Amino acid sequence: MSVGKRKSRIIYGPILSRRLGRSLGVDVIRNPSSRKNCNFDCVYCQLGPVTDKIQSPEDAVGCVTCSEVVEGIRHYHRSIEDIDYITFSGTCEPTLNLWVGEMIDGIRDISDVPICVITNSSLVGRKDVRQNLAKADLVVATLVSGYEDTFQNINRPASGIHLEEVIEGLAALSLMDGCKLSIEAMFVESNEFPGNSSDREISRLVEVLEYIDPDEVEVLTVTRPPAESSLHAVDEKRLKEIASYFDGKFGRNKVRLVLQGIKRGRSVLKHENIEEEVYDLILRRPCTAAQVLTSLGIEENTLSPILEKLENKSKIEPVREGRYCYYRAL
Ligand code: SF4
Repeated sequence: MSVGKRKSRIIYGPILSRRLGRSLGVDVIRNPSSRKNCNFDCVYCQLGPVTDKIQSPEDAVGCVTCSEVVEGIRHYHRSIEDIDYITFSGTCEPTLNLWVGEMIDGIRDISDVPICVITNSSLVGRKDVRQNLAKADLVVATLVSGYEDTFQNINRPASGIHLEEVIEGLAALSLMDGCKLSIEAMFVESNEFPGNSSDREISRLVEVLEYIDPDEVEVLTVTRPPAESSLHAVDEKRLKEIASYFDGKFGRNKVRLVLQGIKRGRSVLKHENIEEEVYDLILRRPCTAAQVLTSLGIEENTLSPILEKLENKSKIEPVREGRYCYYRAL
């Protein structure tokens, strides 16, 4: 499929997430000529390399409107019964759309499902962005390091984005009434540059986290095929050491070690167009066949021909990562 013809829906999923259970995704930038709409180009990004980094919300093309999101959620509510979260995430950095706060207000008028925003933290230095985020029930915000050079190496932000502003913005968000703030500390190792799991990195990150004072810290590593093939996951033993060090600093009830593997029942979802639903899911995050089956609550004999068809149309490709075969959108 040529990039120019890429189409997707604003609401997708539900996705089975290691952190949020069964989550209905909201993608708030829909630019058909761009694979992902972000101001970072993280080495661990599951969406592959970015073509053009967006410099600021004012430059974002294809921002969806509040009424499109609310109508989309209203429509899904008729066909789905058991979601744990409505989550702003997908193929973009959601805070690049400045209407997110209004969208959250609109969703609250028609739904009592908790709302989460997953952000790369790049824009939390802006007051308007913090005000939008504070309306959510939960904000999951990325922070990979307390050092500027490591932040630049791993997140590869658009020019002008600096760690100090991110840290100050997260500390200010943490003081605001409203959302619960969870910091997602993603640990990676690479053959090409120093990762962020060394003792030096961990002790600096602890200092910064003590300053930000979030409600929760999540410790995790990559599990899906990353943008950079030189990148690899931190082994489970080291991840557990980091989590237990964090336990000692922040208290056990504030630290969540997120390991691979989710076991949940199937979704109760009435399907309208299963092929589109499968493609929409894979477009937002590479999935194994088993993950698609569980997320959408469909049978293997339904999914296999769809995967084959999407592969034949060059819309998806299989990618091996460790023991697993993931399907990734092209
Ligand atoms: S991981 Fe998220 S923040 Fe990083 S480049 Fe991908 S979409 Fe952007």
